[in-house]
Parts: sequence; structure tokens; C-alpha cells
Amino acid sequence: GTAGVPTTDAKQTKKDFTSDQEVRWCPGCGDYAILAAVQGFLPELGLKRENIVFVSGIGCSSRFPYYLDTYGMHSIHGRAPAIATGLATSRGDLSVWVVTGDGDALSIGGNHLIHALRRNVNLTILLFNNKIYGLTKGQYSPTSDVGAVTKSSPAGSVDRPFNPVSLALGAEGTFVARTMDSDRKHLTETLKAAAAHRGTSLVEIYQNCPIFNDGAFELLKDRDEATARLLHLVPGEPVRAGTGDDVRVVVSAENGSLAVVPEADADPNRIVHHDPTDLGLAFALSRLDDPSFAHVPMGIFRQVEVPTYDDRVRAQIDQATGGEQVADADLQQLLSGA
Ligand code: SF4
Ligand code: MG
Repeated sequence: GTAGVPTTDAKQTKKDFTSDQEVRWCPGCGDYAILAAVQGFLPELGLKRENIVFVSGIGCSSRFPYYLDTYGMHSIHGRAPAIATGLATSRGDLSVWVVTGDGDALSIGGNHLIHALRRNVNLTILLFNNKIYGLTKGQYSPTSDVGAVTKSSPAGSVDRPFNPVSLALGAEGTFVARTMDSDRKHLTETLKAAAAHRGTSLVEIYQNCPIFNDGAFELLKDRDEATARLLHLVPGEPVRAGTGDDVRVVVSAENGSLAVVPEADADPNRIVHHDPTDLGLAFALSRLDDPSFAHVPMGIFRQVEVPTYDDRVRAQIDQATGGEQVADADLQQLLSGA
């Protein structure tokens, strides 16, 4: 969240957030579009650059902090959420971001990720999902599809993948969304909403790795295919894909689960309207995905206001100290056990 972060009246531009480091992703990598989107809207937030921190783990996406002219830390594999939790909890005046990938966030750092989510630490987590380990040259990851042939699964992966949105919702993430590298408008809108949210926001970003998993999201990038497949999550609106008569609507079937049917077959009383405060609905929507991308919900699955971990910790400290700053000498005494 950005509430409580010092702002500046100085006019900022994309250039102010662009570092002097040479960007070293492969040509055509989806990461470029995400970086450009973030550099594009950071000036609009009007925050002081010195109060913004990007923390990453290890992987291609984790090079992100080098390219932003803010504070940042390229940290330890999977541990960015832990480091960011410390920062956010001790410094309420910072806008703290985590940039991570499917391997870093969901395998090596799976434990840290779920605990940041359940605690509702005030962090904005960008999870670049390319369904592969890119930096280490193409091993299957926790989001690779069953049967994925990679360097480490030559006969096809037998692992059942995580659905990052379902996982985050299972940990009761207070802001959980999905977007895609190639849709700049949707990407920007989703990331801005995530930045504004107080508490942990997690955005899964479908990201193409043209070197080791090219075309993983190709179906969703073709305009006609995307029109038919992408289910748009708009609060208060029916959940649907397509345009005009082609519209397909999600309805709750006899057994209470969700189904996608042609609009003509949809019982008007059973048409689902999106409600981002309904955790059960958000989870059910997240289960509509399948590896063939028959239908893929896009947008904000869940968004609720819940007290944050950092606010609660600070309130306890204030209570214990009567709102007084603990003097350094007192702290030293406490630490030395004297
Ligand atoms: Fe991007 Fe893939 Fe190259 Fe990594 S290996 S920089 S994810 S294209
Ligand atoms: Mg990856």
C-alpha cells in the first residue's frame, strides 16, 4: 500500500525511475513489458523515490531492482518475502515491493510466500509466471504443466502444478489478481490497484520466456482466442468471455460448482456476478483454469480490507512503550540482558 508513504510535489517521469544499468534479459523476454509498465506508472503514484524499495529473490525476474532508480535488494533465493516483511514492519513510511518468479516464489520460497500472505504484511508482490526456471536454463517449475518436456523432465513432468491464484487465496491473501505481460493496459491497471491496496497484494503475471518456454501463453495473446477464453472479473458484473451474442457466462450448476456455458443456455438466476469480497467465489473462479486455457479468469479475484500485520505489530510496540521511542541505551541494555 502507498498510504502513509511520503509524497513529493516534484514532477516525476519514467526517466526518474530508470536506472543507468544495462537491462540484461534475453531479446523478446516478457520481463521488458512488465518493467516498462512499472516504470510508466510509478511517477503517477507521486511517492518519494527514496521511500520505495523493490526486493527480489533469485531468477530472471529478480534482476528487476537493478533497473529501477529506487532502493532495492537482490536478495536470497525464495527469501524476498521474509526480508520485505522486516522492512515493511519496521518502516511504515516505505512502499515495499517483492519481485519474484514461479520457481523463486512457489518452490524455494513457497513457505515464505504463504506466511506473508496469511499475515497480510503491507507488500506488493509481483509473481512473474513463465512456467519454467529461466535463469538456470530451462528446468520444469512448480507451475509447469503435467507432461511438460524440459531439461529436467525429458519424459514429461509428472508433477501436478500449483495454481498461484488458488494458492494465494488458500492463504487468504487480501488482494489476489492475475494479468499478462502483453496486455499493457490491463497490466498497468492491475498493478496500480495492487500498489494502492493496504496489506499483501499478489499479482500473478503470465510472462513469456521466449528462450526456454516460448509460446506458453500464445493462445491468450491471439485477439480472437483471447476474446473467447478470457473471463473478465469486474465487480458487480456478470463473469463472462466474448462479445455480443458469443458471450459465455459462468453459472453455478446443480451441484453448486461453477461452469462456463453459452449465454443462450444460461439461467439468468444462476449467472454469477463478480464479488471480490467473496473468498469462496474467488477460489471457485480460480479453479476454472485448466492447462488448455479453455477459460482463464483475469483481473482481481479478491480484494478486502483487513488489518495489516505491520500495523498490528506497531500498535503493540506503541502500547508497550507508551508511544515513546525506545532509547538506544535501553535497547542495548535489553539486548545485553543486563
Ligand atoms: Fe526472459 Fe527466459 Fe531469457 Fe529469463 S531466460 S531473461 S525469462 S527470456
Ligand atoms: Mg520462472
